Amino acid sequence: MSGPAVFKFGGTSLGDGERTGRVARIVAGAGSPPVVVVSAPAGMTEALVALATGRSQDDGASLVDAARRIAAEVGGEDLADLIERMVAERVVAFRSSGGAGSSPAARDALLSLGEDVSTAIVHHALVDAGVDAARVDARNLIRTDDRFGAGEPDPAAIRRAAEERLLPMAAEGRVAVVQGFVGATSDGRTTTLGRGGSDLTATLLGAALESSAVHIWTDVDGILTGDPRWVARPLSLDVVGFEEAVELAWFGAKVLHAGAAKHAVAHRLPVRIRSTFAPERPGTLVLAERWGGPDIAAVACKRSVALIQVRSRPTAIEYGFLAGVFGTLAEHRTPVDLVATSHTSTAFTIDEGAEIGALAEALDHVAEVDVRRGLSTVTVVGRGLLREPGFAARVFQTVAFTPVHLISQATDSSLSFLVDDEEAEALVRRLHLVLIEGRAGRDASAHGARGAG
Ligand code: ASP
Ligand code: MG
Repeated sequence: MSGPAVFKFGGTSLGDGERTGRVARIVAGAGSPPVVVVSAPAGMTEALVALATGRSQDDGASLVDAARRIAAEVGGEDLADLIERMVAERVVAFRSSGGAGSSPAARDALLSLGEDVSTAIVHHALVDAGVDAARVDARNLIRTDDRFGAGEPDPAAIRRAAEERLLPMAAEGRVAVVQGFVGATSDGRTTTLGRGGSDLTATLLGAALESSAVHIWTDVDGILTGDPRWVARPLSLDVVGFEEAVELAWFGAKVLHAGAAKHAVAHRLPVRIRSTFAPERPGTLVLAERWGGPDIAAVACKRSVALIQVRSRPTAIEYGFLAGVFGTLAEHRTPVDLVATSHTSTAFTIDEGAEIGALAEALDHVAEVDVRRGLSTVTVVGRGLLREPGFAARVFQTVAFTPVHLISQATDSSLSFLVDDEEAEALVRRLHLVLIEGRAGRDASAHGARGAG
């Protein structure tokens, strides 16, 4: 028997009273009571990060206003007053612990406010809609280590807590409402899982409960084949394999957090991406199994990437070179996207936001380092791409007139090009046109995709 489904709602589903009402109706209409995981209201975590890092001089007033407005729309003045007090108290506590200069632990205590607010609001909306719901603090479920800002979850402890606290509720038909993104150390200090971490909360709980499925409710109708702002006719995918979903999550389709996708793969947990605005549609099903022949899923793009080129010093011992480079990256906990290597040099890409200066300095001991910023990766994602006859020719013809800094392909499910930021949009549009729209025109149904919107 499988455990209760997990429904995760993103911030855009909680932006106002009307949207929160949709969430309540979706939960009320679910066949059996799900576990509900919620993100902060849209924009709130961003505002809290600005406050926490001293980027915003705001005294917290605009945060209070935004949270108050949603709360008032959902539950009237009483709920609005409650939320206002919650926000004000937390901001004051952060200030008195040292403000922008305070510890990472104090920062996480502030950042968790967004999800504390949204669970209070969603809980109210659910009870209003006649749902038997109760809040369960994520601090009592999502145990992490003390890496504040990027807590490493402890799956065994999470499983014990979820079994103890969530299963009895499900058996009684009660809906548990849990903060996404938030966790706690074994001694009860609040941690967070990193930006976008609510999806990870959902898959962590899904795996712990052996859920039938995790539903990620968002504002788009599943995973699209291309960014709708860029491509002429994006399609919505019915089914996508996990491997492709992980690639897509990593290389730009923001609908599913990459860590969450990986966790779901490891536990063979089916994930469905659905729209709160079109709950009758099935959205995209992300499946552990990859079935069928080669198929192109999507053209993704990741902006603001830096290329690091590292050439070994003539004196360096050749066989220790790559180990030295990647060991340094691991020490700096810097995730690498693309890699290409030759005998004496290696090039790789990392987020422009990473601490590139410190990294370059550390690498300087083993090699000469060149850094180039302002780049984007454009990635074609699909199952068994390179086995498809003619695929490489069509792709390279399309890329022919775009200057490329690096090409990378490690599995058979993605092929990436590193280009200047200014070139990315046009390249995505052309690749999408040639590889997806051109094909969909010929045979839409055979590729498990349908027109979006
Ligand atoms: N509210 C958090 C963030 O914006 C977590 C999430 O939305 O998934 O990063
Ligand atoms: Mg998200």
